[in-house]
This record gives sequence, C-alpha cells and structure tokens, in this order.
Amino acid sequence: MIRTGDKYIDDLRDGRTIFINGEKITNHVDHPAFKNAIRTVANLYDYQKFNFEKMTFLTREGHRIARHWELPSSHEKLIARGQTAYDYAMQSAGWIGRSPDHVASALVGMMTHIEVFESYSQERSNALKNYFTYVSENDLYLTYALVNPQGDRSKMPSEHTKDIYHSLGLVEKNSKGIIVRGGKMLATAAPLANEIFIGVQNPLKSGVDERYALSFAMPLSTEGIKIISRRSYELVAGHPKDYPLSCQFDENDTIVYFDDVLVPWERVFIFEDTDMCRKQFHSTGAEVLMDTQSQARYAVKLHFLTGLAQKMAETNGIDKFPSVKENLAELACYAMNIEGLFKNLIYNPNVHNGFYIPDQVQLYACQIIAQSIYPKMINIIRKLAGGGVIMLPSSEYDLLNNEIFSFVEKTQYSSVMSPTDRIRLMKLVWDAIGSEFASRHLQYEMFYSGAKFATLDRLYKHYDWNFSRALVENIKTF
Ligand SMILES: Cc1cc2nc3c(=O)[nH]c(=O)nc-3n(C[C@H](O)[C@H](O)[C@H](O)COP(=O)(O)OP(=O)(O)OC[C@H]3O[C@@H](n4cnc5c(N)ncnc54)[C@H](O)[C@@H]3O)c2cc1C
Repeated sequence: MIRTGDKYIDDLRDGRTIFINGEKITNHVDHPAFKNAIRTVANLYDYQKFNFEKMTFLTREGHRIARHWELPSSHEKLIARGQTAYDYAMQSAGWIGRSPDHVASALVGMMTHIEVFESYSQERSNALKNYFTYVSENDLYLTYALVNPQGDRSKMPSEHTKDIYHSLGLVEKNSKGIIVRGGKMLATAAPLANEIFIGVQNPLKSGVDERYALSFAMPLSTEGIKIISRRSYELVAGHPKDYPLSCQFDENDTIVYFDDVLVPWERVFIFEDTDMCRKQFHSTGAEVLMDTQSQARYAVKLHFLTGLAQKMAETNGIDKFPSVKENLAELACYAMNIEGLFKNLIYNPNVHNGFYIPDQVQLYACQIIAQSIYPKMINIIRKLAGGGVIMLPSSEYDLLNNEIFSFVEKTQYSSVMSPTDRIRLMKLVWDAIGSEFASRHLQYEMFYSGAKFATLDRLYKHYDWNFSRALVENIKTF
C-alpha cells in the first residue's frame, strides 16, 4: 500500500496546464524543465518505502502511509515526526523546501485543533476532515498558495479596482459549490504536487474583503487552473556536473491562476470569513507543525553549507588560518543554533486536545533567526571563496576535450584533490551560493515564512512581555 516513486510519477500524468517559455504544456512529467525534480521527489517516496518502519505508520484503516500524516497524539509521535522530517531533508541536504511533508504537516495541525473549524461551521469542518482522510490515506503531495499577488500592497484586495480578481476571489456560489477567479502568488512545487491547498495569509478587512476570504483544495489538473511557471533552473543548467543542485532540486515556483474554477462544497473549508482565514494557520497547529518541518530541513541545509565551506577552505589551503577557522566556526554556530531550536520545538511541546504541539512563540523566534542568518552565512562563504568559484572552465565539456583540459588542469591546483575534483567542488559551491538557483534559495529562506516585518509582528504579539517586564520591575534599583 505504500506509495512508490513509480506510482507518484504515474499519478502526476494528469494533463495539468503549465505555461513555460512561451509554451502551454500538458505533459510536464518528461519535460526538461521539470523532469529531474520530479524524479528527486519520486526518490523520496522510494526512500519512504525502503525505510517504511521509521518513515511510515499504519492507519486505523490498515494503510501504511507517510509518517508526516500522523497526528502527534503522544510525545513519542511528535519526536518521530520531527526525526522523519530531518531524515527526509537529509535526502536532498535540505535543498527541497516544500517536500511532501510540509503542507501535510499544516493539515495535521488543522486536525489537532479541529474545534476551531467546528465552532466556525460544522459543514466546512466536515469537509476539511473528509479531505484530510482522502489525502492522507492516498499519501498525496500537496502544495499551497496562501499569499495574494503583490499588486499594490498598500491596498486591500477589494481596492484593486482595475481588476477585483487580481487576487483570487469568489465569482458566485451555486448548489454544487463556488466559482473562483484570480491569482495566487507563489505556489512552490506546483509542478511536483498532486493538489493545491488555498488559504489567505494577507490581511483582509472584515465587511469588505469577504469575497477573498476563502480556503479550499483542488487537484492541480482541474479545468481552469493555469500554472504559470517561473524560469526553470533545471532546464538551463546544462551539464549536471556544472550545476549539480539546480539540475536535481529545482522545486519550481509558480503563480497559479484560477480561470473560473468550480470548487465543490466538499472541498471548501472557509467561505467568506476573514477571521477564519487568520485562525486557520495561527490559531491551530498548522503553522507550528509545518514550520517545525521547515526547521528540521533548514538545520540539515545549514550543516551542508558549513561542511561545504570547510571542504572548500581545505581545498584552497586556507583552513588552518585562524581567521578562516573563526569564519567556519561561525557557520557551525548557526547550524547548531537551528539544530538546537528545532530540537527544542520537538522536545518541549505543549499539549492541546491530547496532541503534542511545538510551542508557537518558540517557533516565531526560530523563524526570525532562520531568515536573518541565511544571508550572513552566504556572505561568509562568499568571503572564503574569493574568485575560486568564478575561476572555472565554462562547462564540463571543456573537461571532455583533451586539448582544452590539458590547459585547464594546469590552473586548478589543490594540495588535497585532483584538478577535476576541485572543479566539481567549486561548481557545487557556486550552485549553493551564487547561481540563480542559489539566489532563489536566499530569497526563499528570507521570505517563505513571511516577510520579516510580519514574522517580527507575530513574535511581538505573542512574546510574554509580562515575564520580561517583571524581571525589570523586580530588580532593586536603590
Ligand atoms: C522562493 C519563494 C517561495 C515561496 N513559496 C511559497 C509557497 O509555496 N506558498 C505560499 O503561499 N507562499 C510562498 N512564498 C510567498 C511567501 O509566503 C511571501 O513571499 C511572503 O509571505 C512575503 O510576501 P510578499 O513576497 O508578498 O512580500 P511583501 O508582503 O510584498 O513584502 C515585501 C517587502 O515590502 C515591505 N512591506 C510590505 N508590506 C509592508 C508592511 N505592511 N509594513 C512594512 N513593510 C512592508 C517589506 O520591506 C517587505 O519585506 C514564497 C516566497 C518565495 C520568495
């Protein structure tokens, strides 16, 4: 019953519409813009299958599905969830941000706080519960789009008067469901996922913006869903040895446009309720559980970057210089920092409805630190790299041409490895810190949990100011 990589690939052959490079494509699975990333995800499903005891669990219905669908009804289950997220991330060294365990964790977090939905609407809550059963039992891969396209950020969606459907909104409702129109900003991994989950994280004004206050989920192959892909780094990577990360881990980001899509009522979780849109992620376990997965992945990625920097320093014979060691230690410090914060999330949870949920305020602090340190780390690695990441032959094909290689190898000396290995390593470094793929990752780590003003605002609102003020007020000031 465990979903295999082959089954995952078969399921993706669903005829969805993707626009890329002037083309409308309906068979993206073998398209050079997406095919490697899809195989990377397929490998994750196979990894899950071959390590089924730790990566899966048995449902009450007797199905073996990924552990990321399991509700954390004991502390052991929360720890196991964290460990599988870490293990999953190890398969890509943390370069796949929205692996199948990310949005699944958000849904689990909605289930652990299902009373939030029940007190809002029994019907919508039943729709969510049935949906959860369906996607978890079938171990589907979900992406989500929670943010409206930028447009004019000083205006509410309803104030975009040139086109009130700039942001996805309700056109009409009927006995079958709702018809929706408009765009949603980045849905990472839409070409890789089976379904898309829609919510709203932008501020909405009650009494004005109800049209936009919707949450639902649909298969990405649904008629009317147009997936507008960004540039594919996998496609332009050329030889895999030149861009080893771009060509494997490009979880493409997309804009998703809903061109009058009918969403049946059984797939509608929030209907015209601005307050529920906020509560869906912030008053349930959704945000906390999905971003705990993110911190597991992030810890792995930071260890990778730290190891990469150390290996590069050794290759260039700079690793014994005291100032270089300090830089490397600083990288290790950031990696251990996130590792510690992640462990704190899973080892010191709160209990809600019998479920073990990481602490929300800790998570907010973690998000802010996470988005702040990535640019610093990249900068340190750039500083250590010097021009070595540029001083490289144009492509692997130069190494395959004997005449060219005979000159190239004279310029790639290292005391600890061959010229060819040096080139391979430096190309990996560049793909991690300097390529377009790397640059997208910098933007991702800075923004995926929200712009910094938004993450700081969350912590400001939830931090225990009474505790810290009491410390101040209790001190003897003479
Ligand atoms: C690579 C990548 C992948 C992503 N993947 C997903 C995904 O899969 N699903 C998803 O839902 N979202 C995704 N996101 C979107 C992400 O959630 C948003 O980027 C994030 O919420 C920030 O919103 P924004 O980009 O619209 O920035 P904005 O809100 O437009 O903010 C940009 C900047 O404008 C300024 N600013 C804007 N508003 C204010 C304000 N009120 N006060 C002060 N300053 C302000 C700040 O300087 C801020 O940094 C992704 C983003 C990136 C970069």
